[in-house]
Amino acid sequence: MQERAFELARASGLIRPGEPLIVLLSGGADSVCLLDCAQRLDARVHVLHVNYGLRPGSDADEQFCRVLCDRMGVEITVQRVALGEGNLQALARQARYEIAERLAVEHSCDFAAAHTASDQAETVLYRLDDESWIVDSPGMKEFGLAHLEPQEIENAFIEMRPLLGQCRFRNCSHGVEPGCVLQGAVASGAVRPWRLKLLQQLLSERSRSDRPW
Ligand SMILES: [Zn+2]
Repeated sequence: MQERAFELARASGLIRPGEPLIVLLSGGADSVCLLDCAQRLDARVHVLHVNYGLRPGSDADEQFCRVLCDRMGVEITVQRVALGEGNLQALARQARYEIAERLAVEHSCDFAAAHTASDQAETVLYRLDDESWIVDSPGMKEFGLAHLEPQEIENAFIEMRPLLGQCRFRNCSHGVEPGCVLQGAVASGAVRPWRLKLLQQLLSERSRSDRPW
């Protein structure tokens, strides 16, 4: 179990005890980790597995997910989709988010997803709902964040976008600096405290990944 992923998931407040949550489960290590985090945080988890039928192992992945959920006592929805022509990775991503969104609306809840490290930087931060994102497993996080500019990380927090670039100091870490508009927004209730905390965590993870070792 990846403890740092769990700690980050817990600290972020994105996975809430007793609240329903759709977890996208591919069967890969990252998604199993995410499912484990959600279970340990006592979210009311419903798993979604999307089978694209693209690889010889697709049905084995589906079977693995069914067995895992059965063992964990988690409900699972399996959706089979046939993708059209084009960029299969992009089509698959679009398909699973559409399905997840539909299921999330049905269950009146958010959804959470994890991706593999082979994906692009955009997948480092994962959509939970219109304003919430979650970071993947620890190795992935450091690998991925190093490719992102601080501004790109900040931009993932859509409710903060109008405020970005307005802090007194250009390289504001949005901590204790005077004249920080994000701290001001938290104080006035416009930005939720845990959201700013998550942003600060991501920025500090990223600056740590700048080091040569
Ligand atoms: Zn600031």
